Amino acid sequence: MLELSKYTKELSKFFSVSENILLICHINPDGDAIGSQLALYHYLKSVGKNASMISPNHLQEFLKWMEGADLINIFIRNREKCRKLILDADLIVMLDFNQPDRLGEAEDIVISSSARKITIDHHLNPQSFTDLIISDPSKCSTSEIVYELVTILNDGHFKSKPFAESLYTGIITDTGNFEHGAYTSRTLRIVADLLDSGIAKEKILNLIYNNFSVERMRLQGFALNERMVIMPDFQTAYIILTRKDLELYKHAKGDTEGFVNLPLSIKGIIFSALFIEKEGFVKLSFRSKGQFPSNEFASEYFSGGGHLNASGGEYPGNLDNAVGFFVKTLSENFTRFNKNN
Ligand code: 5GP
Ligand code: MN
Repeated sequence: MLELSKYTKELSKFFSVSENILLICHINPDGDAIGSQLALYHYLKSVGKNASMISPNHLQEFLKWMEGADLINIFIRNREKCRKLILDADLIVMLDFNQPDRLGEAEDIVISSSARKITIDHHLNPQSFTDLIISDPSKCSTSEIVYELVTILNDGHFKSKPFAESLYTGIITDTGNFEHGAYTSRTLRIVADLLDSGIAKEKILNLIYNNFSVERMRLQGFALNERMVIMPDFQTAYIILTRKDLELYKHAKGDTEGFVNLPLSIKGIIFSALFIEKEGFVKLSFRSKGQFPSNEFASEYFSGGGHLNASGGEYPGNLDNAVGFFVKTLSENFTRFNKNN
């Protein structure tokens, strides 16, 4: 709280001198990316600012119910309109990421725009590509940071329902409904305050967690039964899904969300990976327990990054080679990565 108050004077100045404020989240936006973006949008509109929103690509189904989600412009769906929004903006706020390549196709135009730029984020090691960086990796979510900032800016009185619902969504999704991540007693006090705003907690939980298709549930069963490999010597498990598997189970965007967490429920497993075959490359997600730095593993070997216990990356080749490379690099380096556990 104290620390973030260092930034609010400058933030408030940025907001007050800007006519057109653009909020932009990271590619493949998750609940925290969209939650923090929408929350800040609702706040800015409430104080009469002209604000707009862009996501580099599409929202997953489980986030589309959120109030204001239909106002988020999708860059890859409407490039011309988004380019114009970026060029017309005099302030661009980046939410829930700290590396320009997380802007996807929008990267070049955002970076080269003459607008002032702000980063609001909770990932480690922010890159310096904006005028103001509000970065706090000790927070569980960007939504928690937005709550603190708006509470200070607004003297604690902004409690609109869409604002509270957006932040609640960001916090529960980034902590896996309080199962992991950097949540603290402060987070729970914030959530208590959001609940006091009268949000429909059960409705939101059902929309996010109990809204799967039959195919998605069957794909999860298939992934665990047929596609999970255990490496007991390295306390690791991984799941491999081919494009054919995904087609067979009529895969919809977001269906594999959360699969990577499942192997961590196995006794003794501290590192988990999910391989998803894409066209010409493989997308990887990593999760870990304790001090095993999944993000360092992701950045050393899979051009990725993220948080200590949740990260991701890519492999530029086919699935077999990706798995072979993973098994080799993990076997050779496990002890080094696991030294602090
Ligand atoms: P997920 O496994 O849910 O897709 O991603 C978990 C976290 O890992 C994200 O919040 C993000 O911080 C990070 N992440 C995932 N994929 C990438 C990637 O390709 N590059 C980087 N730098 N981070 C990623
Ligand atoms: Mn986040």
